[in-house]
Amino acid sequence: MFKHDVFIVGGGLAGCRAALEIKKQNPALDVALVAKTHPIRSHSVAAQGGIAASLKNVDPDDGWKAHAFDTVKGSDYLADQDAVEYLTKEAPEVIIELEHLGVLFSRLEDGRIAQRAFGGHSHKRTCYAADKTGHAILHELVNNLRRFGVTIYEEWYVMELIFEGKEAKGVVMFNIGDGRLEIVSAKAIMFATGGYGRVFNTTSNDYASTGDGLAMSALTKGAATPNASLPLEDMEFVQFHPTGLYPVGVLISEAVRGEGAYLRNSEGERFMARYAPNQMELAPRDITSRAIVMEIRAGRGINPDGSSGGIYVHLDLTHMGKEKIMSRVPFCWEEAHRLVGVDAVTQPMPVRPTAHYCMGGIPVNTDGRVRLNGEELTEGFFAAGECACVSVHGANRLGSNSLLECVVYGRRVGRAIASYVSNRNLPDIDEKKYLAKAEKRIKDLLNQKGNIRINSLRQEFQDCMTEHCGVFRTEEVMGEGLSRIQNLKAKYSQIYLDDKSRYWNQELIEALELQNIMIVGEIILTSAFHRQESRGAHSREDFPGRNDQQYLQHTLAYYSSRGVKIDYMPVVINMFEPKERKY
Ligand SMILES: Cc1cc2nc3c(=O)[nH]c(=O)nc-3n(C[C@H](O)[C@H](O)[C@H](O)COP(=O)(O)OP(=O)(O)OC[C@H]3O[C@@H](n4cnc5c(N)ncnc54)[C@H](O)[C@@H]3O)c2cc1C
Repeated sequence: MFKHDVFIVGGGLAGCRAALEIKKQNPALDVALVAKTHPIRSHSVAAQGGIAASLKNVDPDDGWKAHAFDTVKGSDYLADQDAVEYLTKEAPEVIIELEHLGVLFSRLEDGRIAQRAFGGHSHKRTCYAADKTGHAILHELVNNLRRFGVTIYEEWYVMELIFEGKEAKGVVMFNIGDGRLEIVSAKAIMFATGGYGRVFNTTSNDYASTGDGLAMSALTKGAATPNASLPLEDMEFVQFHPTGLYPVGVLISEAVRGEGAYLRNSEGERFMARYAPNQMELAPRDITSRAIVMEIRAGRGINPDGSSGGIYVHLDLTHMGKEKIMSRVPFCWEEAHRLVGVDAVTQPMPVRPTAHYCMGGIPVNTDGRVRLNGEELTEGFFAAGECACVSVHGANRLGSNSLLECVVYGRRVGRAIASYVSNRNLPDIDEKKYLAKAEKRIKDLLNQKGNIRINSLRQEFQDCMTEHCGVFRTEEVMGEGLSRIQNLKAKYSQIYLDDKSRYWNQELIEALELQNIMIVGEIILTSAFHRQESRGAHSREDFPGRNDQQYLQHTLAYYSSRGVKIDYMPVVINMFEPKERKY
């Protein structure tokens, strides 16, 4: 059994920032971090456009309150405003800290950090490193982990959270390289496992974004009521990013529109004038994605031969000029060139919405303590970053607020953990019991004699989620989706693996991930089915209006093999009263 004071699952921005903070607070603490990839390959590395903070370098009229208001309005008033206040107040300080750690931000002429416009933000406040911001930040954080003496377990797959009574005690993990199983015991466990883009068939996320931490948490039995799991919060709110490169789904950053690109339909028209006349292309993502789908439905989508009636629209950079494109968004140019053969200096890029971000997640308080239910907290279990729901994004996240959440709450949760473990002992774990259970699971999967390939079942499931829980939703379509999901779940016991070895067996990992994808998908769809209103990214054609009377509440979904139980929890509103949302 491995023993550490603190064990962090996830090597992206949130996990790394927390690990660093714990060591800064108390260098004597034994802190370890695990990732199923190398930490530098966490999805954070792919973040492009930037990180928001009211530094006022470009726009002296900005301030934390304006940032907070934009965030709450963007969230369609579902964000918890105490959490947003902390996020936006701390933002300038965490950016300066990152800079002192060595992060190379893009600069203004006078040497200060440059800031650009982003969707839904009323001021130019997004700091960036060209269009490779995540890369710049994650590399420095991982370098610093080594400097501060954090133990790193790379390419270990965490299979289960060990949770007894109300307390997290450790995890079970599998070494992807040599097939070893290990139990880890720790005084505090933190999940920073990122998002679930791979639940859908078209996504900007990497292959590892399979919602493992969300599923593990949802499978954990809480002590509150017999058979109840730990809840997941607001899972119906899936962000579809407006500009996924067609047909691959890879992201073309919002920074491209922040730098001045236009969206055009098959008639060459800048159609956003119909949907958000003031903010145009820089309206928030939920509104822009819906606008694109409506244009496509109205027959103004584009076909590869340029005719009308197709299933994408154009992102037009051609008026921006080569120099601006190559200096501000070179990576996006390269992606379009490499993946679909478009030279954005002279040709428009084909784009359509792509599943991008998980607004919901593991419910936590502002110290990252995971909730047992609507009233109580767990012991020894923390979460931050995209897998957590604190909730600063509510029903719709503004671009460049997620990297910010990872560093602001990574730091805060790190501090909370450092003080939490100071008077705790290592928990007792029945090692044999957990090892035997995990061993059986691995062996059963390897020996399973089915006739369905993992990737065909995964594809079917992802197609089902995209068809039945996409940008627009209705009770009928979601109801059909839920019954299809039951059939697909039953097929899981009929998958088979070609590779029967335990060493570097990617199929085995994919089989474990597929189970997580299915659990998370069912929770998303059930949460969406029960919210009979339209708010932020959750858009019901059968309930087109927002209904504050009934649904100005967070959803809590409790998973069990018999189905998903839905409950609700109040929203913290202490600064801005809900208003109609117009752009
Ligand atoms: C293409 C793209 C561009 C983006 N651009 C921006 C942007 O410009 N600005 C912005 O604010 N946001 C952006 N986002 C969103 C933002 O990047 C993410 O929300 C954020 O980086 C998530 O960080 P994280 O630390 O929570 O998780 P991640 O960076 O996703 O890391 C998750 C970690 O958990 C580990 N892990 C997961 N499951 C397991 C398991 N079972 N066992 C062991 N380890 C596990 C993984 O290996 C990984 O290390 C972008 C997202 C994408 C996909």
